[in-house]
Amino acid sequence: MITTHNLGFPRIGDQRQLKFATEQYWRNEINQDELQQIATELRQQHWNKQKSCDYQAVGDFSFYDQVLDTSFLLGHIPTRFKKTDGNDLDRYFSVARGKSAEQCCHNVHAGEMTKWFDTNYHYIVPELDSETTFKLNSAALIAQIKEAQALGHQVKPVIIGPVTYLYLAKSKDNSSKLAFLDALLPIYSQLLSELGEYVEWVQIDEPILVTECDQTWQHALNKSYYQLQNKGVKILLASYFGRLESNLQLACDLPVDGFHLDTINAKHEINQLIDWLPQHKIISLGIIDGRNIWKTDLNATLDWLEPIANRLQERLWLAPSCSLLHVPVDLTLEPDSKIKPWLAFATQKIIELELIGKALNQGRDSVQSALAQNKQDLLARQNSDEVHQAAVQTRLKSVYSAMAERQSNYSVRAEQQRQQFNLPLYPTTTIGSFPQTPEIRKNRKAYKEGRLSDADYQVAMQAEIKKAIEIQEQLELDVFVHGEAERNDMVEYFSAHLKGYASSQYGWVQSYGSRCVKPPIIYGDISRPEAMTVSWIKYAQSLTNKPMKGMLTGPVTMLNWSFVRDDQPLKTTCLQLALAIRDEVLDLEKAGIKMIQIDEAALREGLPLRHADWQAYLDWAIESFKICANGVADSTQIHTHMCYSEFNDIISAIADMDADVITIETSRSDMELLDIFNDFDYPNEIGPGVYDIHSPNIPSIEEMVALMKKAALRIPPQRLWVNPDCGLKTRQWDEVQQAIQNMVKASQQLREI
Ligand code: GLN
Ligand code: ZN
Repeated sequence: MITTHNLGFPRIGDQRQLKFATEQYWRNEINQDELQQIATELRQQHWNKQKSCDYQAVGDFSFYDQVLDTSFLLGHIPTRFKKTDGNDLDRYFSVARGKSAEQCCHNVHAGEMTKWFDTNYHYIVPELDSETTFKLNSAALIAQIKEAQALGHQVKPVIIGPVTYLYLAKSKDNSSKLAFLDALLPIYSQLLSELGEYVEWVQIDEPILVTECDQTWQHALNKSYYQLQNKGVKILLASYFGRLESNLQLACDLPVDGFHLDTINAKHEINQLIDWLPQHKIISLGIIDGRNIWKTDLNATLDWLEPIANRLQERLWLAPSCSLLHVPVDLTLEPDSKIKPWLAFATQKIIELELIGKALNQGRDSVQSALAQNKQDLLARQNSDEVHQAAVQTRLKSVYSAMAERQSNYSVRAEQQRQQFNLPLYPTTTIGSFPQTPEIRKNRKAYKEGRLSDADYQVAMQAEIKKAIEIQEQLELDVFVHGEAERNDMVEYFSAHLKGYASSQYGWVQSYGSRCVKPPIIYGDISRPEAMTVSWIKYAQSLTNKPMKGMLTGPVTMLNWSFVRDDQPLKTTCLQLALAIRDEVLDLEKAGIKMIQIDEAALREGLPLRHADWQAYLDWAIESFKICANGVADSTQIHTHMCYSEFNDIISAIADMDADVITIETSRSDMELLDIFNDFDYPNEIGPGVYDIHSPNIPSIEEMVALMKKAALRIPPQRLWVNPDCGLKTRQWDEVQQAIQNMVKASQQLREI
């Protein structure tokens, strides 16, 4: 018999119950017992949805983040929180969210957050310093194991492995992270011994295995698993998100009892794995895509899997490729649509796993009708007119390289633009959005629900734009924006206007803590039925003589924040997006808009896990941006914005984009992030964000002047802009007005120096 299991299930609940419950708890609207009760119910629901699996994962539930859970499991709490009071759960939330002065004597800042490998999930970074200690704190995990067992489930706890844990941590004093391994391993040993009292198997995740880890990290893996063997529990070591390459041999040799391979990303490594893995170990194959929402081709999967199953027999385990944390919970809640029969969310993926397991254990006949239905749904998708648009295909073939290039180089353009705009030194502008007030949200909701007519909605939004323009006039900014009142979200707005995109109603995925996102779904060839932003921007420009920046989201960001097609390369989808948005750029230009900002907030996020794959990604990503942006006349000024400035490793790709102006985030690092410009001669204009919009604090004139002076040491003042570090939609109008007023004054002071 072949065994089925799951690496992890989303914990937010099919209707984001966990989000609402934790937020209620934070607002003191429910107490801890009530919160725990909701958590218990959710875990039960989720195990129930997975009851067809031979093993139920336990330890995948989390109130905020699984890495933070691991820190608590290991008794590894940042030093500054050791003295805060409250019980464990409150302290846990304090580390996640920080503690304000009202809650205790002084502000204690939250743990830093960063991306979980190449996903859009963010974890709380464990902090290592000279005061770091570890102490096993397994009560919560053991309680959940007992909870599942009491319900009759066969349990397999899931934990993050020691090497990946240290890899994800940050050393606060720059000492070696691996120096902590010796202190950590006894804690893991103790944990495994304890788990052995309850379960046969434990899953230990070491996704570090799919990265280009060097010898010291490889050695750490060896050392760890030699030390953790024979603790009375069998270890299933899990890798996911990529291929193992030079870590494959190591992974096979580690003294564990089973190994999980993500075959969505590393199918070509299966044979090698089977050959190299000692005969007594089990092989778990991740055969269902845990990162995307498409139905699995069950028949095709069985075609390649059957010979392997025959060969491995009982040694074969099957699972999704990775934890299902990265997909929405349950498709059955979605209203019927043309694409619904093509989709599978977490719950449906578990059913697919069950079907494949049954087909292998009892023959395909046992699931014949499900296989036939699956085939029919997939064929319908393949042959759908909704997916394939001949006009898009033809246009794609006619793309030529000159489309990606501006007519003249930057210096020629800059001269024309200078004459046209006649801007002062250190020109001031903002990044696009202004506060999304309750009034705006109320109107948008009414419009969506059909309670507000097209015409009335337009009147309401135009009033917001007018207000934004008046305030910008008062503030004496040099370059205006329309404020994005009509946009809920920078990706959703455009996806709703492009053909080939669908949205879901409950397709929420956890981004961090209680924050969830609902990525739109690219299911077909992308085209733009009509202009998406022109009338708003034109209206805004009609109210002022100052230059109005048209505001668009770029193709790479659209791609990276969506669920993508799995039936064509990312590169092709990105190019389709680029062409559609290029049309918008050119329409804006035609409408008299002379500055156009194309946001690429997620360009860096798309970088592949392995450095070796970076260049290929950057090549097509940058090419797409250029095709999107560079069809304009020399006198039209292209801006782009990125919410980060860790450019060191991709600075030349950023320069290749050839945007006339780039605005980036730098304020939080005290402009240190601009150091890269000491060595790299960035050729065009830059607006290094002078204040952090994430904080409600009003930046002082002096602070901003000082930051810009630092910037001017690296970049000639003639090429510097003054702006906040991101959009202002999460702020209040009074904060924005005070902050921008100071920012404009700072720029005026700088001009006088
Ligand atoms: N133009 C967008 C805004 O101002 C950019 C948002 C972002 O970079 N995340 O909101
Ligand atoms: Zn930003």
